[in-house]
Amino acid sequence: MVPFAYAAAPSADAAIAHVARRRGAEFIAGGTDMLQLLQEGVRVPAELVDINRLPLDGIEVDTDAVRIGATARMSDVADHPRIRAEYPAVAEALLLSASPQVRNMASIGGNLLQRTRCVYFRDVVTPCNKRAPGSGCSALDGENRLHAILGASPHCIATYAGDLAVALVVLDANVVINGPEGARTLPVEALHRVPGDAPEVETVLEPGDLITAVLIPASAHARRSHYLKVRDRASFEFALVSAAVALDIDAAVIRQARVAVGGVGTKPWRLPAVEHALVGHRVDDELFHAAAARAADGAEPRRHNAFKVELLKRTVERALRTVGSRS
Ligand SMILES: Cc1cc2nc3c(=O)[nH]c(=O)nc-3n(C[C@H](O)[C@H](O)[C@H](O)COP(=O)(O)OP(=O)(O)OC[C@H]3O[C@@H](n4cnc5c(N)ncnc54)[C@H](O)[C@@H]3O)c2cc1C
Repeated sequence: MVPFAYAAAPSADAAIAHVARRRGAEFIAGGTDMLQLLQEGVRVPAELVDINRLPLDGIEVDTDAVRIGATARMSDVADHPRIRAEYPAVAEALLLSASPQVRNMASIGGNLLQRTRCVYFRDVVTPCNKRAPGSGCSALDGENRLHAILGASPHCIATYAGDLAVALVVLDANVVINGPEGARTLPVEALHRVPGDAPEVETVLEPGDLITAVLIPASAHARRSHYLKVRDRASFEFALVSAAVALDIDAAVIRQARVAVGGVGTKPWRLPAVEHALVGHRVDDELFHAAAARAADGAEPRRHNAFKVELLKRTVERALRTVGSRS
């Protein structure tokens, strides 16, 4: 491992100013992703600025919204009784992530910013445009069973691996960012970028931008939300396909619909065509089947991952049926 400096941040402002100024300085929270990437030589920061002692781990739920501090642990958020009751997709996405040990360490901010699990990205001896820009994409003609069918480019087909962000997208959540220029909020849906011709730039964050919290507005569709994850084994595994669904249903008619998917896109992938097919219609299995048939619109499967097209439609349909049957 390449040596690096370490400092515990005395305040958020000091940490932001330091990381913005010092080339190669990065934040570290739970370290569950960062340390793996350090050990594998994928990331070589000059300095890690530890944000764990900052007062950013609160979970505040009121009638209008929940505010989850960026260093709140995944397990604490998943176990929160009001999050389980009022934002079930969040608790479900977290409980289906990683393992209890990882969830006890890992933070909400770090979860949103975890790097892809593409094997070529994590293997420093193979070409990868995301890790080494301009070196090529080994997955295009290589082993691409786990790779993206939505949002890919000729330069990168790596999936966004996280679960939580997919659930947050359907709940209209925002991230609060404190940066060198001050504070701003941004929809979670706008946080991650598609690879295009710069796959190494994964988010819209600038150097020194610190996620301080996630805000989720209370809503009827948040209460009736669900996260379904399909994977190669029943636990401790990333998604082959996942679906987050949130429906506002009044007198058996769908008033609002939000659908997003994971494991198939280069970022958390919202499905407006599916949502449009649902809104204004009565809850019905035929409707869910027809709407889910639009889930793979625009998909571009590769040699080993064509199975994801059908799996995606079935996963969305099953998630819709589950939510539709909830009282
Ligand atoms: C074995 C294993 C299995 C896993 N399975 C899953 C899974 O099934 N689903 C899933 O979603 N995840 C999974 N993960 C990923 C795990 O959830 C992430 O590693 C974890 O959430 C990252 O959080 P952290 O606090 O440890 O981040 P760190 O490793 O500390 O940081 C990750 C990145 O975020 C940046 N960062 C951290 N906090 C902030 C902040 N507040 N503002 C700005 N930048 C910040 C860091 O600079 C770094 O770039 C798995 C991880 C492991 C090791």
